[in-house]
Amino acid sequence: MTRHALVALIISALVVAAPLAQKNAPAKPGGNAKLDALKQEAVADVESRTQFAQQMVDQIFSYGELGFQEFETNRYLIDILKQNGFAVQEGIAGIPTAFMATWGSGKPVIALGSDIDCIPQASQKPAVAWHEPMIEGAPGHGEGHNSGQAVNITAALAVKKIMEREKLPGTLRIWTGTAEELVGTKAYFVRAGFFKDVDIALFTHVGENLDVSWGERAGNGLVSVQYSFVGETAHAAANPWRGRSALDAVELMDIGWNFRREHLRLSQRSHNVITDGGDQPNVVPRTASVWYYFRETDYPHIKELWETGDTMAKAASMMAGVDLLPTKVLGSAWPQHFNKAVAETTWANIQKVGLPQWSDEDQQLAKALQKELKNPRAEGLRTKLSDGLQGPVRENTGGGSDDIGDISWNVPTVTLRYPSNIPGLPGHNWANAISMATPIAHKGVIAGAKVQAMTLLDLVSRPELVEQAWKYFKDVQTKETKYEALIRPQDTPAIWLNKATMDKYRPEMKKYYYDPSRFKNYLEQLNIKYPTVRTTAP
Ligand SMILES: [Zn+2]
Repeated sequence: MTRHALVALIISALVVAAPLAQKNAPAKPGGNAKLDALKQEAVADVESRTQFAQQMVDQIFSYGELGFQEFETNRYLIDILKQNGFAVQEGIAGIPTAFMATWGSGKPVIALGSDIDCIPQASQKPAVAWHEPMIEGAPGHGEGHNSGQAVNITAALAVKKIMEREKLPGTLRIWTGTAEELVGTKAYFVRAGFFKDVDIALFTHVGENLDVSWGERAGNGLVSVQYSFVGETAHAAANPWRGRSALDAVELMDIGWNFRREHLRLSQRSHNVITDGGDQPNVVPRTASVWYYFRETDYPHIKELWETGDTMAKAASMMAGVDLLPTKVLGSAWPQHFNKAVAETTWANIQKVGLPQWSDEDQQLAKALQKELKNPRAEGLRTKLSDGLQGPVRENTGGGSDDIGDISWNVPTVTLRYPSNIPGLPGHNWANAISMATPIAHKGVIAGAKVQAMTLLDLVSRPELVEQAWKYFKDVQTKETKYEALIRPQDTPAIWLNKATMDKYRPEMKKYYYDPSRFKNYLEQLNIKYPTVRTTAP
C-alpha cells in the first residue's frame, strides 16, 4: 500500500468510525445488562471446561501432523464436534484433512477458524527448556497450531448452550486452517464458496499476548510455486555431453534470483528449497525441482515477483538445454486486513478478561528458555496487555504470511491472538513447541476462549455490529482493492505434500500419542517435571 492509500484509509476509517462510536456508546439500560450477564455466564462456563480444553491442546500436540496430513487431528476434532451436536462436512474443497462444522440456524453466520498443522523438524519435549527432540528429525508443534481449535470449540460450546436456552438465532461454523504452514487451503475454501454466506470470521492464532488488531497488518502475502525441469540422463563421466542436467537449470535459476534480489523492493521476502536435486552424482540428473515462496505486501507486487520468477525459470531452462514443465502453485496467501468494528468489540472483551495469572513455574520456564536462546533480556511471560487497540501498520516492511488473508478479503475478519507462547522465540522452531503442552498454553487458551465467547455473544445479540463490520468492509477496506485469487483455475490443493515425511515418522510418533484416560495431562504421561530447566550453565 502506498502512503497515499494508507492516509486515505485512515481518514475514511475515522469517517466511518465517528457515527459508529455514537451508536455504540450509550448502552440501552437493561439491554446491555442482559448481555453482560450472559457474558459472565459464558466466562464461567469456559472456566468449567478447563480440563476439556487442556486435553484438546495436549492431544493435538501429541499428534504433531504436517500440513495436508492432519488425519488424526481431523478425526479427533470431527468426533468432538459431532458429539456436541455439530453437523460436519468432511473433506471440503477437495482436501481430505479439512472440514466445516455447523450448528444452529439463521443469521448471523459466524465462522470460527484456526490452524492445525505443525512444523518440520520441530519435535520437542514440552516443558524442557533446551533443545531435546521427542523423536530426532520428526515434525512438531513449533508454531503452536495445536491450541487454536481448543479456543474456538471451548468458546462455541459455552455460547451454544446459552443460545439454545435463550433461543438466540445464529449459526456457528467451525473450520480448520489445514496446511497453513504451506498457506495451502484457505484460497480454495473461498473458491469453493464456503465463506459466501458467512457474516463474520473469527480466527484465532497463538501469540505472546492477548491481542487483536484492525486494518492492514504488518507482513506479506505470497505465492508458493514449484518449478520442475526435465533433461536427459547420461554417464556423468563417460559421456557427459550426451546428457542435459535439470539440476543445472535449478542452480542457474537460483543464481539468477540471488543476483536480482539486490534490485527488489525492501519489503519482499523470497526463499527456496530444492525438492529434487537428482539421484546420484554419476548419472546426469534428468529431473530437478525447486520450490519458491515469493512474498510481497500487495497483490500487484506479488504478481510481479512471480512473473520475474517465471522468466528466470524459462531462461534457466534455455541455458541448460532442458524443458520447463508447467509450473505448480502449491499455496498462496493474500496480505491480511482485519475489520475495525469486530476488532474493537474483541478488544473491549480482551480488556475485561485480562491476562492469565502465571505461576512461578510458568515464569521460570519462560525465563530459562529466553536465557537458553540468549535473549538479551529474559523477561518471562507478558504480564501487561498492549497499551491500546492496534490499528493499521504504519510502514509495512514485510514479513510472514497467513492465508487467513484470503478470508479477510472476502468477509469481515479478525485474528484473536492468545498468550500460549513464550516471548522472544525464533518461530517455526523447536523452541516454540516447548510451552505448547504446558500450563502456559492451557491458561492462554482459556483466556482466549473467554474473549471468543464474549465476542460471539456480542455478535449474536447486537445485529448493528455485523452491519458496522460490513460497512467498514465495503466502504473502507474493499473500496479500492478488490480480491482476485492468486491461485489459477488449473491449480488444485497440493494434498500430496508431506505424505512421505509423515509416513516415515508416524509409526514412531504413535507411541507418544496422549492418552487422557490414563494421564491427567501430557507432561504426566511423558513423565516430565514442570518446569525442567538447567541447574548449571549450558
Ligand atoms: Zn501459524
